[in-house]
Amino acid sequence: MIKEDFNDYHLSSELLKAISMLNFKKLTKVQEQVIPIALNEKDIVVKSQTGSGKTAAYAIPICQLVDWEENKPQALVLTPTRELAIQVKEDFFNIGRFKRIKAAAIYGKSPFYDQEKELKQKTHIVVGTPGRIIDHIEKGTFDLSKIKYLIIDEADEMLNMGFVEQIETIIKSLSKERMTMLLSATMPKDIETLCNKYMKDPIHIEIEGQNKAADKICQERYNVNESDKIELLRDITILENPDSCMIFCNTKQKVDEVYNKLSNLQYNCRKIHGGMEQSDRLREMNNFKLGYFRYLIATDVAARGIDIDNITHVINYDIPEDKESYVHRIGRTGRAGKMGRAITFVAQNESKFLNDIHEYIGKEIILKERPSLETVNNLKEEFVLKMNIRPEIKETKGAKLSEEIMKLHINAGKKTKMRAVDIVGTLCNIEGMTKDDIGIINIVDISTFVEILNNKGEWVFQQLQKTPIKGRLRTVSKVDI
Ligand code: AMP
Repeated sequence: MIKEDFNDYHLSSELLKAISMLNFKKLTKVQEQVIPIALNEKDIVVKSQTGSGKTAAYAIPICQLVDWEENKPQALVLTPTRELAIQVKEDFFNIGRFKRIKAAAIYGKSPFYDQEKELKQKTHIVVGTPGRIIDHIEKGTFDLSKIKYLIIDEADEMLNMGFVEQIETIIKSLSKERMTMLLSATMPKDIETLCNKYMKDPIHIEIEGQNKAADKICQERYNVNESDKIELLRDITILENPDSCMIFCNTKQKVDEVYNKLSNLQYNCRKIHGGMEQSDRLREMNNFKLGYFRYLIATDVAARGIDIDNITHVINYDIPEDKESYVHRIGRTGRAGKMGRAITFVAQNESKFLNDIHEYIGKEIILKERPSLETVNNLKEEFVLKMNIRPEIKETKGAKLSEEIMKLHINAGKKTKMRAVDIVGTLCNIEGMTKDDIGIINIVDISTFVEILNNKGEWVFQQLQKTPIKGRLRTVSKVDI
C-alpha cells in the first residue's frame, strides 16, 4: 500500500521533525516508491528527473538507516558535479539536522588536506565526485570499511562526463555487503550494464510523467539573427520583467560577453562558468539563491541538479546543442509547484538543434513574434522601476532548522588534544543539558565548533564563560550558522 504521509513510516522523531520544518508535507511520487524499498535495504534503480524530490527520496532512508554511534562513513553518494555534491550534502545536513548526521562533500579543485582532516573526524555520509573520491581511496584517507550504502546520482550525466570507469573502480573497492541505489533521468545501455554487473536483483522504479516538470513551464522561442541577440534580450527582459532569471549561453566567452553588455546596461547581474574559481562560482550561486540579484548568466555548469526555488524565467540566449541540456536548463524554473517561463533564441542555422529538442520533448515550442518597439517602450518605465528596487532577500532552505540551534566556537582544538568526549562531558554536566542537546562537534587545529540544540544555546554559552573545559577556562564565542 502506498503511504502518503511521512508519519506512516517508522522514521525517527528527529527525522520527522526536520522533514516537517523543511515543510515537506506529502511525499512526492518518487519518494512514495523509493523510501519503503530503501528502508528495507534493497537495491534500486530509479529513473526520474531532478526536481522530483529524488534527493530526499534517498537521503531520508539513508539518514534513518545510518548508525549515529559509528564514526566511520557508512554511506557514499557519487555525483557528477561539485555543485551537486555540495547541494546533496546540504540536503543530508538539513534532513539529518536533529539526528546530528555529519555529511562531508569531497570534490576536486578544493584543498585535499582539509578534506583529509574532515574524513578523519566522525562522518556518517560522504558525498563526492568520482575523481577526488578515488584520490582519497588511493591515498588511504577515506576508510571504506563501513560503507553499507552506495548511491550513484545522475548516472547518465556521469556517463556523459566519462566517469563510468571511475565509478567501477570505486564500486570494486567497496564491500559486496551493501545496498546500491542508482538514479538517472535516462537509462542508456552503459548504465543498464553497470546495474546488471554490480547490483543485486535491483527493483526498477520509473516515475511516470517524465516531462511533468516541463508541463509546468511555458516554453516559447524567438527567431533572431546572431548579431541582434543582445537587442532581443533587452526587449524580452523588459517585456517579461522577471523577478529571477537565468540566462544560458553555450560558451564561457559568450557568458562573459553577455555579462559585460548587461552590466553596461545597469542590469543587476552576475555570471557563472567553468573558467571561474570554484569558490567564486559557489558564492555567486549562493547569492543568486538568496536573491541578491535577478539575472544569472551561465553555461551548462549551472544547468543540472541545481535546486533554486523561485526562478521565474530561463532564457536560452544560445539554443543548447544537446537536447538533454534543454530539459535540464529549463528545469531550473517551474519548481516547487510554481509555473515557470522558458524562452529560447533560435538563430538562422540552428533549426537542427530545435528539431532535435522538439522530437525529444514531444511537442513544439511556441514561436513568438518579437515585441514591437511600442510595446517595449510602454513597459520600460515599469522595468526600470523594478531594476532600481533591491530584490527581496530569501531565507535559505535550512534557515528554519537552525532557529533553535546555536553554534559555539571554543578556542582549543586538536593541538591542545581536545576530543569530542571532553566537550560532551563538560556540556552534559551543565544543568538541564543532555547528550541529545548537543549537535555536530567539529574539532580543528586550534578551534572547536559545537552546536547546541533545542534553544539551549544561550544558557550553555553563559555557563561556559565560567565552566572549565578539559581543566581550563576557554574563550567561548557565538558563530553564525
Ligand atoms: P530534487 O529533485 O531532489 O532536486 O528536489 C526538488 C525540490 O523539492 C527540492 O527543493 C526539495 O527540497 C523539494 N522537496 C523534496 N521532497 C519534498 C516534499 N516531500 N515536499 C515538498 N518539497 C519537497
